[in-house]
Amino acid sequence: MPLLNETHDPGLTSWVASANDGRTDFPIQNLPFAVFRRQGSGEAWRGGVAIGDRIVDLAAAVAAGVFTDEALAPARAAAGSTLNDLMGLGPKSASALRHALSKGLRTGATEEAALSACLVPQAQAEYQVPARIGDYTDFYTSVHHATNIGKQFRPDNPLLPNYKWVPIGYHGRSSSIGVSGQSFRRPHGQAKAPDADAPVVRPSQRMDIELEMGVFIGAGNALGEPVGIGEAESRIFGLVLLNDWSARDIQPWEYQPLGPFLAKNFATTVSPWVVTLEALAPFRAPFTRPENDPQPLPYLSSDANRAEGGLDIQLEALIQTPVMREQGAAPARLALTNYRHAYWTAAQMVTHHTVNGCNLQPGDLLGTGTLSGPTLDQACALIELTCGGKHPIALPNGEQRAWLEDGDTVVLRGWCERPGATRIGFGECVGTVLPAV
Ligand code: CA
Repeated sequence: MPLLNETHDPGLTSWVASANDGRTDFPIQNLPFAVFRRQGSGEAWRGGVAIGDRIVDLAAAVAAGVFTDEALAPARAAAGSTLNDLMGLGPKSASALRHALSKGLRTGATEEAALSACLVPQAQAEYQVPARIGDYTDFYTSVHHATNIGKQFRPDNPLLPNYKWVPIGYHGRSSSIGVSGQSFRRPHGQAKAPDADAPVVRPSQRMDIELEMGVFIGAGNALGEPVGIGEAESRIFGLVLLNDWSARDIQPWEYQPLGPFLAKNFATTVSPWVVTLEALAPFRAPFTRPENDPQPLPYLSSDANRAEGGLDIQLEALIQTPVMREQGAAPARLALTNYRHAYWTAAQMVTHHTVNGCNLQPGDLLGTGTLSGPTLDQACALIELTCGGKHPIALPNGEQRAWLEDGDTVVLRGWCERPGATRIGFGECVGTVLPAV
């Protein structure tokens, strides 16, 4: 579990002035990684680190000779077109690079002249999915989401008996994962009305979001070698925001007995900036279980996981309709929640995923599942917020939404703030629903 160190010092400031305004997601205490290039430039994709409203171009910084010693290998690994190599080097290497960047970007750093020539404005950048994602697994770690959804699909039996014992997940699809800014066609699929004799195939009429976090795997594990709970966090590189777009009319007809399939795999959007577990060290939270619930089995349990296995990350989902866009209206909030409400921690996801010897590889992505909190305003999918479409949401401009309509844009945001620590954020995860083919 990463410890607090000098890179988290709230007293640190940067010679990049926009990093010091107290509002940015990217102060010098954050230093998240992305893969970027200048918009429309045809330049090579390469790794970058956010500082204020700029990006440190890691390929340029390596070429300028900014990095030495233990920071050199991870900087070279991060300068390529994906972050897989950096992720695979493990947490010590990523930490050495973070320390070098923290030192070089500090007010008064001797590296200022060399590094200032390597800055690209974020406003001029475009991004790519930060890693080549070999495998994507989506978990279901919010008991509140599982209960709310279960009530709609199985009113008599909302929470299945395995939920409180096993971190539920399924293997998703990586080919349709896109980066923030993604737009996708409303999917077709089979849907069957409860009173109909047969299903029909048509564009989904119940397009929904799922506000999740994505966990990028760093150094993986060999096939056949489980990762114990004490080692699990050393296999995590960092976290992003994730929107698991869902077709709620396709899902109930297809999901039994093998789980989600075409209702989920037509698009998944992630934010470009991967916030490292080390950057999140000041925002740890205890992992607790309600008194009357079963405690996790020993392989999913440790003192460290109980003390600080959770993460205190504020999460927000917002919507902007085409009419709002025309009116110049800002996106309106749908939900505000916190990752700390999850029933299973990130470490427990890794340990459970590998308990059978399944190998995780650098750049694999684990979704947390929809991170709904205990109250309705913390529900992170429309199916919960509108009670299955029965109670549409009233938007500030008088429009209503039961489900997403064509042209609707959904924005996810995430940030951490605590007394004694510098606020850090995840940037945005934005996606838009286009009309069906
Ligand atoms: Ca999901």
